[in-house]
Amino acid sequence: MFSGDGARVQVCPLNINSEGINKMEKTDYDLVIIGGGPAGLAAGLYAARARLKVILIEKLMPGGQLALTDWIENYPGFPEGLSGPDLVVQMTEQAKRFDLPIESKEVKSLDLSQPVKKIDLGDRSMTTKTIIIATGASPRKLGVPGEDLFYGKGVSFCGTCDGPFYRDLEVAAVGGGDTAVQESIYLTKFAKKVYLIHRRDELRATKILQERASANDRIEMVWDSVVTSINGALTNVGSVTVKNVKTGETRDLKVDGCFVWVGTTPNTGFLPDSVKRNDWGFVVTDQKRETSVPGVFAAGDVRNTPLRQVVTAVGDGAIAAVEAEHYIENMA
Ligand code: NAP
Repeated sequence: MFSGDGARVQVCPLNINSEGINKMEKTDYDLVIIGGGPAGLAAGLYAARARLKVILIEKLMPGGQLALTDWIENYPGFPEGLSGPDLVVQMTEQAKRFDLPIESKEVKSLDLSQPVKKIDLGDRSMTTKTIIIATGASPRKLGVPGEDLFYGKGVSFCGTCDGPFYRDLEVAAVGGGDTAVQESIYLTKFAKKVYLIHRRDELRATKILQERASANDRIEMVWDSVVTSINGALTNVGSVTVKNVKTGETRDLKVDGCFVWVGTTPNTGFLPDSVKRNDWGFVVTDQKRETSVPGVFAAGDVRNTPLRQVVTAVGDGAIAAVEAEHYIENMA
């Protein structure tokens, strides 16, 4: 495991019985997977096929961010692409075919102080030998006036969910990464105009998305600008105030909605401090996807991964499940 400074220290995760054979106390599960996005579902598939005593705990419905994604065209095996919700359904069905139990419940906290790990579900707890954290990441907010007030009334983080409400209207989109650009292109299926507001004069998004955005005459770039407030009356957004960070000039853009796509924050609120995080709060793992706590693994967007994609999340899930299996085998 990792010490505070990142170096590995040895912790014995086992009890030694009278014959000197390492044995762990009996637990409810071999493996508990927390989170039902692509990483968790892939881990569940691998663990269920390995016949581990496994359960997947998901706060809401399986799918995570993928369930909110309009179209996936870079997941191998689907040459025409497919919708995020369709891919979620197929992944869930595949895992269930191997009898993966999935329970809708929120994990409140983890006790990782002993080799037998305890998971607090509020009304009950469960014990397990290993855990895979696959809780993903949530959309980051701008933190400007009006953002919370108009959330669900014109402020949105999900184009798939809310784009169709803006048919023939004008909207603002904020951000310069893949999500902002891809979702802005999607919004042009409905909105007659999308102001794509970015704080720099160059997009972070991949070149192919940049090319598609610049070829789309419904997208107007608003460079070097930040949103300083989202304005409206009662239950509707009416405008966003944008400030040019180079000139200091401020102006109002008349829009009916404001979509915010400025990155993500990892969902780690239930984790104890013993699970090491990086400066941005993402869980630090080694190559085996094992965290600073032996027997606790992390997979997908919650991890310090260089790429947050469905394809990398499922790879992480598979590695974490196989390594959890190895960890358990080494106890026997
Ligand atoms: P991201 O790559 O972190 O981009 C966030 C964007 O928001 C950046 O352009 C950043 O500006 C801007 N930003 C951050 N904080 C801001 C603030 N307070 N005010 C204004 N702007 C702010 O996040 P993402 O686009 O959600 O992508 C996350 C990951 O998912 C990436 O690895 C991406 O490649 C992947 N992804 C891939 C696809 C695809 O392949 N189809 C689709 C979606 C997402 P700066 O550029 O100035 O930092």
